[in-house]
Amino acid sequence: MQTRLFIGGEFVDAADGATFETVDPHDGSVLANVAEAKEQDVDRAVAAAKRAFPAWSRMAAAERGRLLLKLADAIEADAENLAMLETRDTGHPVRDTLGLDVPRTAATFRYFGGMADKFQGSVVPVEQGFLDYVVPEPLGVVGQIVPWNFPVMFTSWKMGPALAAGNCLVMKPSEITPLSALRVAELAAEVGFPPGVINMVPGYGTTAGQRLVDHRDIAKISFTGSTNVGKMIAKGAAETLKQVHLELGGKGANIVFEDANIAAAVNGTAFGIFHNQGQACIAASRLIVHESVKDEFMDHLVWLAKSIRLGDPKERATEMGPLTSLTHLDRVKSYLGLADSEGGSVLAGGKAPDAPELASGYYIEPTIVETRPEARAAQEEVFGPFMVVHTFKTDEDALRIANSVEYGLGGGLWTKDLSRAHKVARDLRAGMVWVNSYKRVNPGSPFGGMGVSGYGREMGFEAMREYTEPKATWINVDAALPAYYPRDPRGNG
Ligand code: NAD
Repeated sequence: MQTRLFIGGEFVDAADGATFETVDPHDGSVLANVAEAKEQDVDRAVAAAKRAFPAWSRMAAAERGRLLLKLADAIEADAENLAMLETRDTGHPVRDTLGLDVPRTAATFRYFGGMADKFQGSVVPVEQGFLDYVVPEPLGVVGQIVPWNFPVMFTSWKMGPALAAGNCLVMKPSEITPLSALRVAELAAEVGFPPGVINMVPGYGTTAGQRLVDHRDIAKISFTGSTNVGKMIAKGAAETLKQVHLELGGKGANIVFEDANIAAAVNGTAFGIFHNQGQACIAASRLIVHESVKDEFMDHLVWLAKSIRLGDPKERATEMGPLTSLTHLDRVKSYLGLADSEGGSVLAGGKAPDAPELASGYYIEPTIVETRPEARAAQEEVFGPFMVVHTFKTDEDALRIANSVEYGLGGGLWTKDLSRAHKVARDLRAGMVWVNSYKRVNPGSPFGGMGVSGYGREMGFEAMREYTEPKATWINVDAALPAYYPRDPRGNG
């Protein structure tokens, strides 16, 4: 297990020797002591990235792509190990880390490996006699700050397009889950990424993260995390006018119409909210169900929620693990208290499981609370296995409730009516909408939000645009230039 900073192609201790603990959320035990990057270490990493940039950005795009493809292969070959590392650090069940997260990580690196030599510029049909070509140029050194909920996957979402486009990077993994990113860096070194192209600086947000935001040699910050920190980053980055890409929180609306396929909608809804213990920005955290099918729907959903197998995430049969940190468990619990004080009624869960073997872990049962759409528990992001339920009568009602939050990340709807599906999808204020499914992601499909969910997009061609700047070059091939000052400058003497 790698526990040191990765700078300039080497694993190194922090300059001041500092470390922090990362904890196994299943039992609260210390999993590892990890080197803690501070300002000085970030500066070293940025300097290494800056040195690596000229050669990396001039390398043939196909060569950069080939390295990304090799990294995808290496991740697949290491799947069992990487998945278990992720499971132990995050509490995410191994059936998911092995079945979803690691394969998706490899697929995303592979997608951007293929993209490297296909993302191209253009020639603009400008005035006669000129050739105007536009080249997407890499930005330089980019800083990438990621949260703890899908740490291994986020390496590929952020590193894949940045590297394919020719940037060098310094990534700050979350202080809560740094291990899988360090393993990805190690694999990248093994497959031949040149030193300095990728640097990993685990550490805290207010020190290492802040230094990345302030650093004059960083061209862009790509941040995934909470809305509050996102706002601070946008403000901080204004000082150096660096670009910012923000993937922030969500409060996903999941609308079930009366004509929905109930069995499919129940299962999709449960996956939408309870997968990864609800710790997903695109979680289906608000169920908006038509009043005529509410009772039937809720009977099935509550039954399903109660049947979800909570347990040690390292066991293959486990369907839901612990929350990733104790602080976060406390936060989720605080919303239970809040929902109660706001008059909400708990339909399922709302407490730790009655299982002595889970008592020292950060577990909470899948929770469903019926409450008013205006309640704080229905407006604010909880980021846990905590779903609120509202009912509606008309399509307009459903949309009004769905669009009543500040967030605008993911949203979904279940109906057999094609016209309604398109209309509601059009009118939902969200960067991503799923019809008769929930929470689909693919490396080719743009991912991101609106409102306080942030701006910019990950994945697809959009991500390549995030990490490049178009440079227009005008060549006068055979244009006769009009004389703006109609006299011969050589006429004077
Ligand atoms: P967080 O905002 O607390 O931390 C995210 C990252 O930012 C961490 O690496 C942290 O160390 C760093 N950070 C904290 N303060 C900082 C500062 N002042 N300057 C620079 N960096 C700083 O979020 P979290 O609790 O780790 O993650 C949960 C949040 O992430 C949720 O709100 C969730 O919705 C969001 N999220 C969004 C997406 C998306 O794609 N939109 C995906 C996953 C998670």
